[in-house]
Amino acid sequence: MSQRPFNFSAGPATIPQEVLHMAAAEMLDWHGTGMGVMEMSHRGKAFMAIHAQAVADLRELLAIPENFRVLFMQGGGLAQNAIVPLNLSRGGTVDLVVTGAWSQKSYKEAGKYAQVNLAASAQASGFTTLPSPNTWQLSKEAAYVHVCSNETIHGVEFHELPDLQALGSTAPLVIDFSSQVTSRPVDWSRVGLAFGGAQKNIGPAGLTLVVVREDLLGHAMAVCPSAFDYTLVAEHDSMYNTPPTYGIYLAGLIFQWVKQQTETLADGTVLRGVAAMELRNKTKAELLYSYLDSSDFYSNKVAKDCRSRMNLPFFLADESRNEAFLSGAQAHGLLQLKGHKSLGGMRASLYNAMPLAGVQALVAYMQDFERSHA
Ligand SMILES: *Cc1c(COP(=O)(O)O)cnc(C)c1O
Repeated sequence: MSQRPFNFSAGPATIPQEVLHMAAAEMLDWHGTGMGVMEMSHRGKAFMAIHAQAVADLRELLAIPENFRVLFMQGGGLAQNAIVPLNLSRGGTVDLVVTGAWSQKSYKEAGKYAQVNLAASAQASGFTTLPSPNTWQLSKEAAYVHVCSNETIHGVEFHELPDLQALGSTAPLVIDFSSQVTSRPVDWSRVGLAFGGAQKNIGPAGLTLVVVREDLLGHAMAVCPSAFDYTLVAEHDSMYNTPPTYGIYLAGLIFQWVKQQTETLADGTVLRGVAAMELRNKTKAELLYSYLDSSDFYSNKVAKDCRSRMNLPFFLADESRNEAFLSGAQAHGLLQLKGHKSLGGMRASLYNAMPLAGVQALVAYMQDFERSHA
């Protein structure tokens, strides 16, 4: 396989090349069925097998406990900002922790369906820090507490999920892990529900993943659209209506790919799957952050203890060079580094499918650019 350019898009984002080759090879005829996956009934044997395998592989990769259900839905992460309160709030109070653009959106949307308590906000820091959980103003009767475990735009990440019980709350924790899922393990003992759009780490746009603890099902508000009622979706194994079949298939190929990934520690221990991804992602992020910190030419403004491993926003000290930086990067096979419009500057997204070689190539380009422009 020839090396394609390295794609640093925040999403839709790069997909492992092996997966794209496999999908291409199977496009016209999946496993001798004479049909492509897009052409199959979602209720037929072939697709049911694809779906069951994808769910089983994800459960294994993320060590999802038995009492959680895996749902594949549509509408993206943004639709979940409504679907979560429609299913869990019972029209009561919910606690929101605002740590960046995505949780800000969740906060606004939840207000259409529930009483929203702003438990904490990092807005005053320009979303460069995370408010410490022991400062959160949690409400007594909250139906859930929502956090975004990785803020894709601002580049802040919870490296440890909050332990709500230790904070005196009995509410379930809801995490938006759109841009974090499968990049590291999840501590399910602290989570009631996790959701994410697929297009960052686990597939194409159009597929949404929901992992929900069973005891939270059964309380959707009467106005909740049936197709978005977790209980109905769970009862029908994500086939209440036609699920995004091709997205599920592609996510399944990506889960297989993650399962095959290994990293070897100095003592010879071999890490596999999500543990291997976590180590690789840490290595990749540290490489870029340490270069950013060593340079006066570039900067990242996020506090060190909450810097995202997945999304690294950075800025040139002289922003008049942004265009030259981006066009030079593109010429070097380093694509989609332009920052989100709300922040400006640059952003390198280092999802699972970004190899270490891509980050090395980026740092080498940045060093060259710095030398020739400093
Ligand atoms: C991308 C993203 C979303 C929105 O996903 P859509 O699929 O565009 O609805 C929500 N939350 C986070 C953290 C994201 O990164």
